[in-house]
Amino acid sequence: MSKAEQLQKIYQKLEKDLPKLPLGDIGENTVPGDGDPESEIMFIGEAPGYYESIERKPFIGRSGQLFVNTSAELGYPREKVYISNIVKVRPPDNRDPLPKEIAAYRPYLDEEIEIIQPKLIVTLGRFSMQKFLPDVKISQVHGRLHKVKWKDRTLYILPMYHPAAALRNPQTKASFVSDFQKIPKIIEWLHNKSESDTLEASIKEALL
Ligand code: URA
Repeated sequence: MSKAEQLQKIYQKLEKDLPKLPLGDIGENTVPGDGDPESEIMFIGEAPGYYESIERKPFIGRSGQLFVNTSAELGYPREKVYISNIVKVRPPDNRDPLPKEIAAYRPYLDEEIEIIQPKLIVTLGRFSMQKFLPDVKISQVHGRLHKVKWKDRTLYILPMYHPAAALRNPQTKASFVSDFQKIPKIIEWLHNKSESDTLEASIKEALL
């Protein structure tokens, strides 16, 4: 089965499971991940908003446009990367997702990650960052590459601010853009690194 077909199965299961999931009875749609399942880069946001819920596509509202345009300018148009969310249904009034909602939607996201096997995961905002880096502050770690053990794999995580935060604050926006600009170098480094490289020694060079 292709990656696209495997993902399709997950989204069908999500749809079927919806009535028994939190946020399943508020009349919002499920919003599946979107983009190229063969991509080396996977972006993980927080939860769909108003427009995403209607169109059933992540990151198409105002903050989505900032994110998608920044990505395209750096050579990663949205159809060439994979974009998903921690929670797959819009919370009421776009409030923060609750721990029990994050937990309930976790298996679907975990399966997406297992299928896509991205070289790099870019987390957008603190909720997706906390999935991999539970004890850190986004203001201290954004734009720095992290190597984590996740299930039986090693993952490379680049935490970034959420584009909605970037829209609210010009300094956050500057960080958002400059962190984004590191992605091509990180990808190049991930292609070329040897197993014996220590992350600290060689990634400093990659992030210059
Ligand atoms: N914000 C998110 O975190 N995800 C979306 O899909 C849209 C806005």
